[in-house]
Amino acid sequence: MATLRFKALEDALKRRPVEVTIPGEKISDYFGINVFDRIKMEKYLPKDANKAVLDAIDHGKRIDMKLADQIAMGMKSWAMSLGATHYTHWFQPLTENTAEKHDSFTVPTGRGTAIEVFSGALLVQQEPDASSFPSGGIRNTFEARGYTAWDPSSPAFVMDDTLIIPTIFISYTGEALDYKTPLLKALHCLDKAAVEVCQYFDKDVSRVNSNLGWEQEYFLVDEAVYNARPDLVLTDRTLMGHASAKNQQLEDQYFGQIPSRVLAFMKDMEYEAYKLGIPVKTRHNEVAPNQYELAPIFEETNLANDHNLLVMMVMRKVASRHNFKIILHEKPFAGINGSGKHNNWSVSTNTGVNLLSPGKTPRLNLQFLTFLVNTLVAVHDNNALLKASIASPGNQHRLGANEAPPAIISAFLGQQLTRMLDEIEQKVTDEKMSPEEKTAIKLDIGKIPEILLDNTDRNRTSPFAFTGNRFEFRAVGSSANCASAMIALNTALAVQLLDFKVEVDAVIEKGVKKDEAILQVLRRLIKKSKAIRFDGNGYSDEWKEEAAKRGLDCEAIVPLIYDAFLTPKSRELFKRAKVYNDVEMEARNEVRNDLYAKKVQIEARVFSDLAMNHILPTVIEYQAMLINSTQGLKNLYSADEYNVLASRRLKLIKEISDHIENIEDKVNEMLEARKEANLIEDAREKAIDYATKIFPYLDEIRYHIDKLELIVDNEKWPLPKYRELLFIR
Ligand code: ADP
Ligand code: MG
Repeated sequence: MATLRFKALEDALKRRPVEVTIPGEKISDYFGINVFDRIKMEKYLPKDANKAVLDAIDHGKRIDMKLADQIAMGMKSWAMSLGATHYTHWFQPLTENTAEKHDSFTVPTGRGTAIEVFSGALLVQQEPDASSFPSGGIRNTFEARGYTAWDPSSPAFVMDDTLIIPTIFISYTGEALDYKTPLLKALHCLDKAAVEVCQYFDKDVSRVNSNLGWEQEYFLVDEAVYNARPDLVLTDRTLMGHASAKNQQLEDQYFGQIPSRVLAFMKDMEYEAYKLGIPVKTRHNEVAPNQYELAPIFEETNLANDHNLLVMMVMRKVASRHNFKIILHEKPFAGINGSGKHNNWSVSTNTGVNLLSPGKTPRLNLQFLTFLVNTLVAVHDNNALLKASIASPGNQHRLGANEAPPAIISAFLGQQLTRMLDEIEQKVTDEKMSPEEKTAIKLDIGKIPEILLDNTDRNRTSPFAFTGNRFEFRAVGSSANCASAMIALNTALAVQLLDFKVEVDAVIEKGVKKDEAILQVLRRLIKKSKAIRFDGNGYSDEWKEEAAKRGLDCEAIVPLIYDAFLTPKSRELFKRAKVYNDVEMEARNEVRNDLYAKKVQIEARVFSDLAMNHILPTVIEYQAMLINSTQGLKNLYSADEYNVLASRRLKLIKEISDHIENIEDKVNEMLEARKEANLIEDAREKAIDYATKIFPYLDEIRYHIDKLELIVDNEKWPLPKYRELLFIR
């Protein structure tokens, strides 16, 4: 039975780095060559058409249908010049993958010939057969109507032989069925709300963008060894496997030398990413063996997110060229670090100001404080929602596992900024300030850039940490669509800014000067959001207690965490920002819960199959051998000697029997629990059942299998072991 395992190990050992040849001498020779960017638009589009796209990108204007035809023609010529024969609308349904359906440009003329056709209508809107994408009941299957619509703000690109057009995906009745639609709405709302607030400081601000710089962590495993693990193939994680004698305890992997086979893969992947205009910047080893990270330079959030999804696609493809499998699961291996995707996030203006970075003048610093404090309030008031936005069946293994942020949202500011906020809280009052008080505060605020320069304390345990010119939202899972976190965060800030504006205007109305009014409101907000600030060790047990006392959300069961999406507060938030209506919110939670139950269900099935059909037969065979050989001793020894020897062997045989019984019993119990859960109609109730009654069995049974792995003959063990999965080069 172990033959597949040994064949796989043999194959893996034989591998050498796959040679990669990269044309061009420097990255700039091929950066973005497969992207229909502004330069190519200028070349391939008539003036009017080009202007229409630019207006759509920069000012959100609608594109006239006649011009859309011209744009489509230009795009087609460009794509065909790169050898494209097909086109597709690329969208982000509520699964974990992106979706596409390729159509050929070719249309027969009816006279035995064919021509390449691509029109404005085909560019702007398509109707994929949408019935099999999750919709939470918005779109009944008999209607099966959903359509995709072009998002001109994310440029089209060519991959292989296909022109790919980024699109949103909505139901026939207008509800979003994807991640991109609400993300664009959230970004739009933030833009409007933030511009209004920026007007207090600079009349030239007419546009505010949200920026995202993601850091993608992943594991690489040799393809042959991966394929010998049905759990990896079907669930993207190992459901069993004893820890390797050596794993990450020597701390020799992080920033260590990258193995040559992996380096070849990285170069190849980066080359593909550069051609797609993705500004890949850093690559390094991560903490766990075979774990790596890739990070680009940050970009506008919608584009950055498309680029992340694209990179995940490219990674999978390039990995297979190098006989690797890429694992994006948040916790593919127990006992070693899992993978996350830090979301570095900031907001900036068309005038080139990063609103989360202190500036050179007191005025710019007050603006910085305004955005910093409003962000803290947004995170404070919506901490449960933000946690819900990153919760997933995979991420539940990682959060709170002493390597990743706990299942509690808090924000880290560092000593100096904390002191600054404390001073504002103490010094500013609702009374009119004396000129001396004003000067003192101004001086304090003026010092911010300096204090931040030596702000070296970086807290690695905080889920939402300020790092000098941005926040790092670290709780996001490695396989996630960042849009989920970005929708929640940007919407929360947008709505908070709307409230802020109203409050400040009301104070100004009372005759208070603008700067003073802003400071007064900031002081109130600093007080109000204090509970979210935590600079201590987020991994500690004391913090869990303290957080509960502070009233922060401490729920740890995923389907119950999802409830935060449907509280009156969250509903109000999303409706005010025009991001979701009630139907969409309810539908989405149904999809989330449904996905949760299905994932655990699949894991439970795969687990039972492995336990009963792979592990137990091997164990029983080994035990039979032990029994036989024990009996054989009888002929060799005197009765007394035999009794001593046999009693030791019997102990081992009994130990094995105990594990076998435990496994059989628990697998049966888990099956019964599943039968009951499957009768539940309500998606939420069902997910809760899967989380609380079925999920715990997986670890319980695993314990016994992992123990057996240490007992049973290595030659017989059917599944590649952790050391074989993680240390193969
Ligand atoms: P780390 O020390 O966290 O690994 P890096 O220098 O690798 O930091 O940066 C991580 C990511 O943060 C990169 O994508 C980078 O472009 C991004 N980043 C830097 N500044 C900002 C900013 N102002 N807004 C958003 N992202 C940023
Ligand atoms: Mg980081």
